[in-house]
Amino acid sequence: MYDLHVHSTASDGLVSPQEVVDEAWGLGLRGLAITDHDTVAGIEPAQEHLRQRGYALDLVPAIELNAELGPNEVHILGYFIDPACPPLLGRLQEIKEARRQRAVSMVEKLNRLGYRVSLDRVRELAGGDVMGRPHIGRALVEQGYVASLSEAFARLIGMGKPAYVPRYKFVPAEAVQMVRRAGGVPVLAHPGLLGNDVLVEELLELGIEGLEVYYPEHSPQEVERYLRLARRRRLLVTGGSDYHGAVLHYRGGLGSVVVGDEVVASLRERAAAVEGRADAWLGEGG
Ligand code: AMP
Ligand code: ZN
Ligand code: FE
Ligand code: FE
Repeated sequence: MYDLHVHSTASDGLVSPQEVVDEAWGLGLRGLAITDHDTVAGIEPAQEHLRQRGYALDLVPAIELNAELGPNEVHILGYFIDPACPPLLGRLQEIKEARRQRAVSMVEKLNRLGYRVSLDRVRELAGGDVMGRPHIGRALVEQGYVASLSEAFARLIGMGKPAYVPRYKFVPAEAVQMVRRAGGVPVLAHPGLLGNDVLVEELLELGIEGLEVYYPEHSPQEVERYLRLARRRRLLVTGGSDYHGAVLHYRGGLGSVVVGDEVVASLRERAAAVEGRADAWLGEGG
């Protein structure tokens, strides 16, 4: 069994890539995909760690790209991407810088509103490769302004709330293209969270090849509905826990949602079929 949706400290998870690997091994999983938001920085350390420990654990190189379409957050998972693909790394670098600037603006906004959180602390809490709203939220919790991260999102940093700053422009179509160019298989993450199946169908037109049907917050009815949709559109069916660390109580526990090994075999096959696209960047000016 594989958990195909796992975060680490490289983005907004609370568990380091090495610890994630230890936990997955301890649970007896066959493998996992580290799907950090907008970064591949967790993959190498995880791979190195499992090599050193000699774990027979299969690590799927992956990413979760946080795109936005109008008022909707659209997350695109990419499986079997090449984490060294230069165009991918180039764009991720830009996104990382935009994320940093956005964190600066949000902290300034909070300060003007009278919430004393410091950028240094947010940077420390981010620790890993990319800064995000969860790190700002944790600083707010630490200072006692809110009781939980969800309260921080609900009252201050969620979309449309007083300290919210719109994201850098990054649309789902570009996210799908990035995954494909990096030789990966694009999958629409947690369609149920979009709460709009017309939008889901529109997104599927972008060249998405799989649907994350199994997800902690999908009801049995949603699972049924998305299974039918995937069958009708001949999409791969994936799933994962969206683990962010046990104490965060955000989404599922590691291994709480898993898929069979055959799902990973299909993803691997599809990725191999797009090898041609993956190699495209090799020809681009060295
Ligand atoms: P950002 O990409 O910086 O805009 O932050 C969005 C990310 O914050 C999402 O991908 C989630 O992982 C995380 N997030 C959203 N809502 C919450 C919440 N209530 N508690 C914890 N994390 C959250
Ligand atoms: Zn997250
Ligand atoms: Fe997500
Ligand atoms: Fe996620």
